[in-house]
Amino acid sequence: MTKGKNALVTGSTSGIGLGIAEAFCAAGMNVMLNGFGNANDIETERAEFEQKYGVKVRYHDADMSRPAEIRDLVATAKAAFGRIDVVVNNAGIQHVQPIEDFPDEKWDAIIAINLTSAFHTIKHTIVGMKARRWGRIINIASAHGLVASPYKPAYVAAKHGLVGLTKTVALGSAEYGVTCNAICPGYVMTPLVKKQIPDQAKARGISEEQVVKDVILASQATKQFVTVEQLGALAVFLCTDAAAQITGAALPMDGGWTAH
Ligand code: NAD
Repeated sequence: MTKGKNALVTGSTSGIGLGIAEAFCAAGMNVMLNGFGNANDIETERAEFEQKYGVKVRYHDADMSRPAEIRDLVATAKAAFGRIDVVVNNAGIQHVQPIEDFPDEKWDAIIAINLTSAFHTIKHTIVGMKARRWGRIINIASAHGLVASPYKPAYVAAKHGLVGLTKTVALGSAEYGVTCNAICPGYVMTPLVKKQIPDQAKARGISEEQVVKDVILASQATKQFVTVEQLGALAVFLCTDAAAQITGAALPMDGGWTAH
């Protein structure tokens, strides 16, 4: 069912995006990788996925804050695979600081990468999906697309915006066999989370150990991190026909965080 489908996963050189890309490859899908990082490491990963899973894996270094580069990413994926069936909008960054000190350029970068980039990828891929009457758009939002935490003004605004974008795109494409959903993960121990531990400690005036125990895992009822493998499995499920009636949803995978 997923075999032979072609997917574009933004921000897939690390963390959740890389986990979803690998799960897609394991499900027989061809994948266009994207994101920053060491060129040799990315090439090693790309070649490994191709060899291990027997699928086509390509890479494009588009900066997702730049609309012209996003257009080139989509065009390159279409040229490589013939069509794009699945888009995962995953690229994202974080910055943690009280709003009164929050730098303007961080606000602009977070809104561009975490929200506006999804507008562009969807705009450039949905016509083909609708014409073929099959498509899957998966937006990696966050528990912060449903609830807020302090000191994350741009991130919480972008993720709530991404959930809204998900709903309107779902309604507009529902009769064409195209679904659009948001996955709302709780905390996953990726570089994005590791990086914010010292900032959270500074903003709150507590130690880094206290941030992990009393801030990060305090919100997750299971007291465990979500894993990239679990998120990859959910993304693969959303690409199956069993998920054809799931659309416009914001699906939490957050260890019970948003049940509070
Ligand atoms: P990560 O830092 O491990 O990965 C982020 C990816 O995005 C990397 O591949 C990076 O190169 C790429 N990226 C960053 N800026 C980019 C740009 N301008 N253009 C292209 N690619 C860019 O982070 P992660 O934790 O895997 O986060 C992935 C997504 O999941 C983000 O949207 C994040 O908000 C969301 N998320 C993460 C968590 C968590 O706890 N880690 C929880 C909820 C949601």
